[in-house]
Amino acid sequence: MPTKCSTCTGTYTPQQAGNGQYFHACPPIANPAYQPDPTKPAFNLVQTIEQPNKRDENLVLDPTGKVIGIKAAGAGVTLF
Ligand SMILES: [Zn+2]
Repeated sequence: MPTKCSTCTGTYTPQQAGNGQYFHACPPIANPAYQPDPTKPAFNLVQTIEQPNKRDENLVLDPTGKVIGIKAAGAGVTLF
């Protein structure tokens, strides 16, 4: 089912063709401390930071290997 991340607004399909599964994690964003003024001495286009309230669906396991949740829920998702 198509899913939209409420943190980064990315859309994705968790269940991939061939029974693969995609675990969404919000991508890093440009560091606002260096954007958008290239005249700043520390300007660096490749400088990035993690999104505030990042969602990360990669699984967290307990010591026995049982899935107990995802790394970070972020702002949640919308199914459509
Ligand atoms: Zn996201």
